[in-house]
Amino acid sequence: RLDGVEMAPPDPILGVSEAFKRDTSADKLNLGVGAYRTEELQPYVLKVVRKAEERMLAANENKEYLPIEGLASFRKATVELLLGADSPTIKEGRVACLQSLSGTGSLRIGAAFIAKFMPGAVAFISRPTWGNHKNIFADTGVEWREYSYFDPETIGLDFEGMIADLEAAPEGSVVVLHGCAHNPTGVDPTKEQWAKIADVIIAKNLVPFFDVAYQGFATGSLEEDAFAPRYFAERSIEFAVAQSYSKNLGLYAERVGAISWVLNDAGAADRVLSQMKRIARAVYSNPPVHGARIVSEVVGNEEMFEEWKGEMDMMAGRIKAVRQELYDALVKLEPNKDWSFVTKQIGMFSFTGMSPAQCDNMTNKHHIYMTRDGRLSLAGLSSSKCQYLAEAMIDSIDN
Ligand code: PMP
Repeated sequence: RLDGVEMAPPDPILGVSEAFKRDTSADKLNLGVGAYRTEELQPYVLKVVRKAEERMLAANENKEYLPIEGLASFRKATVELLLGADSPTIKEGRVACLQSLSGTGSLRIGAAFIAKFMPGAVAFISRPTWGNHKNIFADTGVEWREYSYFDPETIGLDFEGMIADLEAAPEGSVVVLHGCAHNPTGVDPTKEQWAKIADVIIAKNLVPFFDVAYQGFATGSLEEDAFAPRYFAERSIEFAVAQSYSKNLGLYAERVGAISWVLNDAGAADRVLSQMKRIARAVYSNPPVHGARIVSEVVGNEEMFEEWKGEMDMMAGRIKAVRQELYDALVKLEPNKDWSFVTKQIGMFSFTGMSPAQCDNMTNKHHIYMTRDGRLSLAGLSSSKCQYLAEAMIDSIDN
């Protein structure tokens, strides 16, 4: 009966890691997945996470099921991290927060909620965006379309195009917005631009859906990186938001995150939470506890929180340093080309504008693994590999 099932294509991001593992070259470099590595190119577990785990072990906690909505102390810490502890939205009980399976699972529950309670609503996603957005909305039965975002000429934001596309979207459409450190472009709207985006959202009755996967990796400040959702809340715009601790706490494999709806009415928040619980119950029943306990230890404790910020600065600082070194190496090798995009872009990635053929050359000839949209994860680059990478980029671009 299943003879007709065809092979699914490899995932454009995680498939790159699979190919990397098969490569036996000593030069190989994995700049595909956005996962932080040390200068020695090893995975890194935050010290503050280890400390939290030691405390948890000492407390000898049990493995009972969590409630469907997740761990209460985790949910409190997570909405406060996003909106600020003194947010009126939180105080007035207007946030419906469900702990879910990291950013991806949170987006998925959000999409399923949209499919069920906003039937016919189209989700507008940026062109380009993180590849999985399309899968998530398509698989939940939500039609997606794209809005303009990136201008390859300026290697910056196509703000006019974005506004025009949002103005042309049907009333009540969902707009998926990267909260900060846009993946893959590393280009974020300015505060003034966010204000205009909010104007269009209000005028056209659009529903923003923030994807916050990099809080702490854009400006270097957790508060500043949450500017857009905080600003939207201040303007009483109702929105959904998916949060992830994969990158900022390095909890990739723990699958810890949350989906929240920030609403104007506490009663609506209660009802929305009850319906998200109904959806989650039939997907995975209730969320895992280990990562949630780590988060509530770290984010909910002042001293640990400060330590976390120090480690996040260290990670973000290392990425900024290799960004600069890569830029310097490129300028030295080819001074007549404008490489300023490398240092202008923010977050974990460099969006190079390389074509799929050029990306293939990077991989096949130089053993540098990257996604075929031209994105390099600088989180996986070391100082000692910057020269090698710059040479490979120039070879690939020039040929
Ligand atoms: N959204 C964006 C934009 C991302 O880049 C990622 C991770 N690469 C995610 C969501 C989700 O990641 P996770 O499921 O590990 O939280």
